[in-house]
Amino acid sequence: MKISVSGVTDRGRVRPHNEDALIVDLAHGVFAVADGMGGHAAGEVASGLAIDVVTELLARRRPSDEDAVELLRRAVDLSNERIASHSENSPEYRHMGTTIVVAIAAGARYWIAHVGDSRAYLVRGAEIFQLTSDHSFVNELVRLGMLSREQAARDPRRNVVTRALGSGAGVAPDIFEGEAAPGDVLVLCSDGLNTMLDDQRILSVLRGAGSIERGSAELVAAANAAGGEDNVTVVVVSFDADDAG
Ligand code: CA
Repeated sequence: MKISVSGVTDRGRVRPHNEDALIVDLAHGVFAVADGMGGHAAGEVASGLAIDVVTELLARRRPSDEDAVELLRRAVDLSNERIASHSENSPEYRHMGTTIVVAIAAGARYWIAHVGDSRAYLVRGAEIFQLTSDHSFVNELVRLGMLSREQAARDPRRNVVTRALGSGAGVAPDIFEGEAAPGDVLVLCSDGLNTMLDDQRILSVLRGAGSIERGSAELVAAANAAGGEDNVTVVVVSFDADDAG
């Protein structure tokens, strides 16, 4: 399988800083989006620390079938510990944290780990599937049947995450694996994308773009056109048959 990737991050139209961070490492098949929080410069520090750990642990060599899940767990644990020790040592970073969604791709197989409300989607043909389930207050209400997905998307509490890296206590990531078919596209994003664009809009922008480079750029542009209320980060990974060139 031939893997291609395009990643874009943008401050959006309202926030003074970009607290999102990303890794796009095609050589090792490692892709991630982190969305930091904590006020002032702390969010940037937290998301940056998480991306540094992912780079350290995962992008040194190509993870294999045997160790992908274990490496993802270690990356989540170590990011969590490192952010927590940073915030203990500096009062201005006391409440910082970050989400993370990481994908490892090897051939047609991929593994995804996530904590928080950054998402992974799979686009297959004319359909889009949300692979991750947000660790967020409003998603808990959706699960309990107290809010619809549409209400959750507009709820003022939608930014409240129920799991994040940086607390220091053990954080359990959701980890799963999948097998890509030729033509499949994975999308990793921060909530600045999916709070501005619903799933069908994400699908139609990608399908209309013609290439993943244009797709990632046009998704960010569409989120900004819809208000750009938050930082927005998109990593688009495509899987194509080897003979597709
Ligand atoms: Ca965000």
